[in-house]
Amino acid sequence: MNFYVMTLFPEMIMEGIGVSITGRALQKEIIKVKAFDIREYTNEKHGHVDDYPYGGGAGMEMQAQPICDCYDAVMREIGEKEKKPRVIYLTPQGKVFNQNLAREYAEEEDIIFLCGHYEGVDERALELLQTENVSVGDYVLTGGELPAMLMIDCISRLVPGVLGKDESADIETFHDNLLEYPQYTRPPEYKGLKVPDILLSGHHANVEKWRREQSIERTLRVRPDLLPEAKLSDKERKYLEGLLK
Ligand code: SAM
Repeated sequence: MNFYVMTLFPEMIMEGIGVSITGRALQKEIIKVKAFDIREYTNEKHGHVDDYPYGGGAGMEMQAQPICDCYDAVMREIGEKEKKPRVIYLTPQGKVFNQNLAREYAEEEDIIFLCGHYEGVDERALELLQTENVSVGDYVLTGGELPAMLMIDCISRLVPGVLGKDESADIETFHDNLLEYPQYTRPPEYKGLKVPDILLSGHHANVEKWRREQSIERTLRVRPDLLPEAKLSDKERKYLEGLLK
């Protein structure tokens, strides 16, 4: 899978993605990440990529010209494809990224990200590039680089081969719209706190039942908003109803 990132800080993207699991996936060429420096595409003789907003107001806006020319360079790199790659503009005004969106994006061959900076981007660039606007949460950051890295990280781990055989994206938080159950590792007792007996019992079916119940309890406690869409068996639904009494 190929990620193309249009940014004013390409080194930030490459340094962030080049380590740990995504770094390994890059080396193995399971994913490709290429950052394009928007500044290289400006026609302005001093290298400016931003200007004051029409109508006044605080801060600077990124101009449409360098972004659109940078996009043309990305498209030349991608070459002729049957389907136009999705272009994601990272913005606090977009739909909020989540695991379902990550699964959808993981099906794509190419994804292009546009990282804003300063006060944002001239609206015409977004129109011309036909961007999808995506937010990473209801807060405002200084730039789209961290959101792009966050999305690349999350999408990459759903691409076959990115996670090693000891790592899995199958059963973890948001699987079945539940939070993950509590996890423990050695030793069996630490500072007086014991690992629940059931996990040491070796009884696989009981462990699975306990984990599902813990997931349901935890989701109810921390993220009850997830429960209406949770995939539960009849027995598990009864268990939840018991907790609600
Ligand atoms: N003036 C803009 C507004 O009110 O919507 C905010 C601009 S923000 C300071 C600068 C850039 O950071 C944005 O263009 C966007 O690319 C990025 N950004 C900030 N918060 C974000 C978020 N929650 N999700 C995704 N991108 C974000």
